[in-house]
Amino acid sequence: MEEKGTENGTAAMAACYQRFDPAAYLQYNYTPPRADFEREDSIVPWKLACLHRAFSEGDVSGELLVDIGSGPTLYQVLSGCEVFNKVLLTDFLEINRQELRRWLQDETSCSMDWTPYLQHVCKLEGRSPSAWIEKAAKLRKVITDILPIDVHRSHPLGPDILPSAGADCLVSSFCLESVSPDLAAFTRALGHIGRLLRPGGHLLLIGALEESYYLGGPGVKIPVVPLTEAQVCASLKENGYTLIRLEVYTLPQDMRVGVDDVTGVFFVKAKKD
Ligand code: SAM
Repeated sequence: MEEKGTENGTAAMAACYQRFDPAAYLQYNYTPPRADFEREDSIVPWKLACLHRAFSEGDVSGELLVDIGSGPTLYQVLSGCEVFNKVLLTDFLEINRQELRRWLQDETSCSMDWTPYLQHVCKLEGRSPSAWIEKAAKLRKVITDILPIDVHRSHPLGPDILPSAGADCLVSSFCLESVSPDLAAFTRALGHIGRLLRPGGHLLLIGALEESYYLGGPGVKIPVVPLTEAQVCASLKENGYTLIRLEVYTLPQDMRVGVDDVTGVFFVKAKKD
């Protein structure tokens, strides 16, 4: 009975995503004020700083980084691409995978110009902003595939996609809570993606706090599991992760632009036991 309910819940979420509009989503979340590189309290620079710090502490290393539920965005791998020789991007929707492929092949046909993002991360790395061209080339070199994924399946990528030991590191931003019908499904999905990670590997998880919906396009209201920090920590513990650090960002009033009801963002660095 419970299984049937869960299946219905995840099927309803999948149905919501059929109307996801990558260009609108990028516009809502990845342009100013949310991506204002002149402001320290803007949400995107905060996320980029957390990722930069996590990847530059020296403990995250290996060959393979997998980004779970990439959507149409690249910002989440701009620091990791300097540490890992191989990066896999993944998403549930072909339309998002297509957007990412467009950038890999020829950025002129993309919905989004990632140049300011590349420049900002170069600055964080102590490089000149003009090094963004090298960073873009590096990113194109290390992204070896863009794959379909479903975090509600016990093996989200399908069999034999990853080396048997698993990936060395997972990144996932705003995916699990915005594709799960409830907290139990969120916790299960965290367990499913954990199977893709080798023991001792790192998970960098970014997500929304206390959010009940976001817009995936004009009139496309997608339900989200409202999470507290305590619930995130409990789900991590239940799935055999040791928390290294949890950071929280609270949205200033002018960052609440009517495209969701998020109040804060969490950034987790954790290690699989
Ligand atoms: N990672 C991006 C970011 O940081 O903005 C996109 C996050 S977006 C809120 C959620 C993403 O989850 C969408 O790209 C959507 O296609 C993807 N998604 C939807 N259902 C999924 C599922 N069952 N498994 C994995 N990803 C899914």
